[in-house]
Amino acid sequence: MATSLACLLLAAVASPALVEAVPPFRPPPHLTAAFPQGWERDFGPPPPGLALRSNGLPSESDALLHCLQSSNIETMTSSLNGSAAYWEAAQSDNLRFHYHPEAIVYPRSAKEVSAAVNCVSAHSPRTAIAARSGGHSFAGHGSGGWDGSLVVDLKHLDSIRYDGKSGTAAVGPSARLGDVVKGLWGSSGQLKRAMPHGTCPPVGVGGHALCGGFGPTSRQWGMTTDNLLEAEVVLADGSIVTASPRQNKELLWGLRGAGSNFGIVTRLTFQTYDASGEWVFTEMRWSPSLKTGADAAKVVHAVQTLATDDSMPRSYGFHVQLQPANRGDPPGGPLALHMRGIWHGERAEWERQIESKLLSGLKAAGAPEPDAKTITPMSYRAVMEEWDDFGKPGDKLDTLAERLVRNNFLARTRLTKGQKGFSLASLEGMMAPLLERAKGSEPTLEEPFMWNVYLEMYGGGGKLGARHRDQDVMGASSLPHRDSLWLIQSAAGTWGRNQLPRKAHDVLDELDEGFARALQKDGIEDSGYACYVDAREDAEEATRRHFDQKTAERLKKLKREVDPRNVFRNPQGIAGTEYIDEGATELLEAGTSMIHIRPPLAHPLPRGVRARRAV
Ligand SMILES: Cc1cc2nc3c(=O)[nH]c(=O)nc-3n(C[C@H](O)[C@H](O)[C@H](O)COP(=O)(O)OP(=O)(O)OC[C@H]3O[C@@H](n4cnc5c(N)ncnc54)[C@H](O)[C@@H]3O)c2cc1C
Repeated sequence: MATSLACLLLAAVASPALVEAVPPFRPPPHLTAAFPQGWERDFGPPPPGLALRSNGLPSESDALLHCLQSSNIETMTSSLNGSAAYWEAAQSDNLRFHYHPEAIVYPRSAKEVSAAVNCVSAHSPRTAIAARSGGHSFAGHGSGGWDGSLVVDLKHLDSIRYDGKSGTAAVGPSARLGDVVKGLWGSSGQLKRAMPHGTCPPVGVGGHALCGGFGPTSRQWGMTTDNLLEAEVVLADGSIVTASPRQNKELLWGLRGAGSNFGIVTRLTFQTYDASGEWVFTEMRWSPSLKTGADAAKVVHAVQTLATDDSMPRSYGFHVQLQPANRGDPPGGPLALHMRGIWHGERAEWERQIESKLLSGLKAAGAPEPDAKTITPMSYRAVMEEWDDFGKPGDKLDTLAERLVRNNFLARTRLTKGQKGFSLASLEGMMAPLLERAKGSEPTLEEPFMWNVYLEMYGGGGKLGARHRDQDVMGASSLPHRDSLWLIQSAAGTWGRNQLPRKAHDVLDELDEGFARALQKDGIEDSGYACYVDAREDAEEATRRHFDQKTAERLKKLKREVDPRNVFRNPQGIAGTEYIDEGATELLEAGTSMIHIRPPLAHPLPRGVRARRAV
């Protein structure tokens, strides 16, 4: 089976020899200025100035550090632990976005989280606080999203406890999605439970559930956030509260979709589902038969017709992925299209309800049939292992090992609005340049980067729709934009600490603009998706893209109630990016809440450390 990129591990398509051969590219500082993405850093060794902060006088941060340590909270700073160890600890999954927190704490309980929040209020109130569960924010928001935050790393809170009576599971925020699969399945398959979420095992359930959490079982069971029944949260005033349909209901609504804004979630209780019985892992590959852009357009259009069919069952979730044919594909065609999915049911039913319709749709459109397919009935757990692109064969869902494999990428996302799909003409207009671009896209020593495009069937299903689009589910969460057909993502990435070459930025823009043009031509609007943050957007733009106006206003009101000083903030916070003092609170109430002047640093950065530059 060809390598798939469901986990965005773009390095997987480069040959191991090339990965070895390309030394990390370390541009001189003046060169980084040539990249429009101002936040990109020189990925060289930790800046020598990182440890040189103290001027011998007590400062706000010394007092904060003293408070954290005297509260017995495991604490890490560059001066305590050395700049190299601190550099490692500050890393996000996406190496493109490396920030320097003021300190990183590793609390062992909600009480310790509360103590850390209280230390900030008492000794360094302007320091922003960021929770980190799995560290898989696209833009490093788990490490603050800028320099100078207090990062509350929840790595010690990773337990998974299933309650057989209620069918619910209490999960620590730093449990990874792969751990959730294993924990709910049971060590010897004695539980056979599951919940909906993405397929990338090292992603943290905390950040995932609080921004949405879409995966191949979401059409059947809803988004991860829709299944969040209860949350234990530490608020800005240090209180530990429970948000559930019975208490703090509005907070639960806010956490379901905009959760990083309101506090630090220390425990999440989820609805789980019976995952016993047969599942089918399905993968079809069109490569090398896509000879022209028109071929690719016809295939995508036939897939789209299937997706929007009134009888498309909720028990099928899939994505289509387009990328330059790589070493996993047979030679002969520049572009490879993979359609990967999960079917909950028997194979014969999948063949009857899905495959036969797709094949007749392809035939009617004059589109090529798949060159290869893998249709394998298996258990739910085996399906999730099969989908795991990070894990080594025989060692799938090993989240301890997988979290050490870092990504290095940029992505653009478009969530289409409504169930209208692309016209064939628009798809042709988009696929022809894509196919041309795929020619000669093999990563090289000079240009070590790869790209791909995903179309996830987010909605579809015509009248049958999808669970996460049902009225009862939509009304209970702050995650809007549920009525959507495609979740589209274009990504370009490299491996290790390489700088992403200039050309990769251009290719990414080209891919995304292709989609933008097609959407415009077909009169389809699009929005953002809160789990796929785009670091180019400031707080105002991100809020506009992620939430509709009514939802945004309601979220801001909730924010004023539970975090009036904007303690929990990052570059895309719902209440802007600034610490809010008395005067600013009035401004916020007057409706001019979006203030994004500069990152809220508690004190000047240490020498040698650059702040995130404005884009
Ligand atoms: C390789 C990869 C694959 C992905 N696949 C999918 C997918 O299939 N489907 C999908 O929907 N998304 C997917 N995502 C996106 C992912 O769901 C989000 O990036 C998510 O926010 C990551 O959560 P985290 O805990 O790992 O990240 P973190 O960086 O730790 O946190 C992300 C954000 O949530 C906040 N946060 C984290 N924990 C808490 C907490 N306990 N309390 C309050 N705020 C908190 C952080 O402060 C930060 O703002 C993927 C991301 C990557 C990098």
